Amino acid sequence: MQIDLMNCMCSNGTRTEPEHLLTSRMAHPSDTVVTVGSHKIGGGSFTLIGGPCAVESEEQLFTIARAIKDAGGDILRGGTFKPRTSPYKFQGLGAEGIRLLVEAGRWVGLPVVTEITSIRNLSLYEDVDLIQVGARNMQNYDLLSELGHSKKPVILKRGFSNTLEELLLSAEYILSGGNPNVILCERGIRTFEPMTRNTLDLSAVPVLHELTHLPVLVDPSHAAGTRQYVAPLARAATAAGADGLMIEVHHQPELALSDGPQALLPEQFSQLSLDVRAIRNALR
Ligand code: PEP
Ligand code: MN
Repeated sequence: MQIDLMNCMCSNGTRTEPEHLLTSRMAHPSDTVVTVGSHKIGGGSFTLIGGPCAVESEEQLFTIARAIKDAGGDILRGGTFKPRTSPYKFQGLGAEGIRLLVEAGRWVGLPVVTEITSIRNLSLYEDVDLIQVGARNMQNYDLLSELGHSKKPVILKRGFSNTLEELLLSAEYILSGGNPNVILCERGIRTFEPMTRNTLDLSAVPVLHELTHLPVLVDPSHAAGTRQYVAPLARAATAAGADGLMIEVHHQPELALSDGPQALLPEQFSQLSLDVRAIRNALR
C-alpha cells in the first residue's frame, strides 16, 4: 500500500507524524491480533488480566491464581521486578518471583505477564508469555529496542506524564526492531486532581483505536488507587471499547506488600468479570 506520509490526517483533524510508520492505521488498516498462549488479544476479543500487584509468596500467588482462573480471567499477572517510587519499599522477588508466576500459570492453565525493568534481566523471561513495560519505563529506549528484537508479546503502558503521541512513538521502537506483538495500555495520567491516584484518560481508547491498529487495554487499578473506584472505571473502559482490562486482585489486601488499597477481593473480581462481559454483549 502507498502511504502519503506528508498528509496523514485523522478524522479529528490531527496529523499523525510521518514517523508513525508502523503503528499507524494507515500503514495497517486491520486490527493487530496478538496471540498469548492460546489466547488472542485484539481484533474484537476481550481480554481480562488479573492478579496481584506483586508476587509475594507461593501461598499468596497460587490462591489468587486459582481465583483469577475461576472468575474467567484470561491471563495471570504478578509483578516480580517492581519499580517502586521509594527504594525502601518491597522491590519484588525477582527471578524467584518469575519462577513462581510461571509455575502458578501452568497450574491453573493461564498464560502469565510480568514487568521487565532492565534489559540485563531479559534472559529470565524465557517462560513468561507476555512482557510488560511499565509506565516508568515507557521511554526506556534501550529496553524498547531490545524487546523489538524479541518475538515475545509486549504490553506497553503509558507513562503518567506522556502524551498518546509519545506512547505511539515508544511502540514504534518495538515494532521497528521487528516485533509486531505490541499491546498498548492506558493506566491513568498525572493531573491536578488528587482524589484518585491518577486520572484515567478514557479518551485514550477511542483516540488510539483511530490512530493505531494495536490492541488497547485499560488498567483502572493504578488509575484509581482505591478499591471502590476500580470497578466503575473498569466498566466505563469496557463501554468505551477497550480490548481488555488489567486488574489487581489480592485475597488479603491488608497484608499486601504493594498496592493493597487498590486490589479487588477475588469475589469483587468475579463480579466484575460478569459485568464487563454483560457490557460487551449489550454493545454488540
Ligand atoms: C504494574 O502494573 O504493576 C505497575 C507498576 O503499573 P504502572 O507501570 O502502570 O505503574
Ligand atoms: Mn501495582
